[in-house]
Amino acid sequence: GATIQLENLSKRYHGSALPAVDSVNMEIGAGELVVFVGPSGCGKSTLLKMINRLIEPTSGRIRIGGEDVTRIDPVKLRRKVGYAIQASGLFPHMTVGDNIGLVPKMIGWSKTKVKDRVEEMLDLVGLDPKEFHGRYPRQLSGGQQQRVGVARALAADPPVLLMDEPFGAVDPITRDHLQDELIRLQRELHKTIVFVTHDFDEAVKLGDRIVVLREQSHIAQFDTPEAILTN
Ligand code: ADP
Ligand code: ADP
Repeated sequence: GATIQLENLSKRYHGSALPAVDSVNMEIGAGELVVFVGPSGCGKSTLLKMINRLIEPTSGRIRIGGEDVTRIDPVKLRRKVGYAIQASGLFPHMTVGDNIGLVPKMIGWSKTKVKDRVEEMLDLVGLDPKEFHGRYPRQLSGGQQQRVGVARALAADPPVLLMDEPFGAVDPITRDHLQDELIRLQRELHKTIVFVTHDFDEAVKLGDRIVVLREQSHIAQFDTPEAILTN
């Protein structure tokens, strides 16, 4: 994994009176799994999008592994950071296999290696590769689309994972399995994971530490689940 440092990070969207994210300072350790919880609209998605450079901060700085993200080459950033979102973000005109293989292909993996990896990732999220690799996103249920989104985020084996309510539409049994897989990936492969959820039980199950956010991403608490539960 790699450390993630947020320094005085702020974002005010065009035309908004108040910042969505206001002066956030935070350090997430290498190999740590940190969960963000907080009310809808408190800026959780905005934070993740800034870390992944999908949107630019209004001010402040983000470092991944000590490196300023604005200095990281975009392709290198795709290799470093896997990103999974609630809406799955799959490209509708591409098959499941091509969606999952996108980043590995982009960073120059061989055809065979990409094909094997796509199968491995589909197995990991509990979808039969033979049945699913050639399908289009519209031919999947919402939960299956999310699982493909997770497979895509993991495909290039990035040291950092950003996950924005990635299991929201997934059925409870599969969700439980995916939560366990995520914990395993962190323990065995030492990935740094930032995980956003509404679900406090999920936060307690997954998090080494939990960040409780208020409006404008003001940090109310940043502590272990045990400490938060006893406060
Ligand atoms: P969360 O993920 O915690 O629900 P968001 O990061 O999506 O919160 O949103 C934080 C705030 O920024 C909200 O008030 C939301 O309405 C606003 N916001 C999000 N995206 C945009 C945008 N593209 N333009 C303007 N305002 C936005
Ligand atoms: P755009 O912002 O124009 O959609 P991007 O290349 O930033 O283009 O993202 C395209 C898609 O790739 C998005 O749907 C997003 O969900 C996904 N994506 C973004 N970052 C990553 C990443 N680091 N790893 C895997 N998929 C990503």
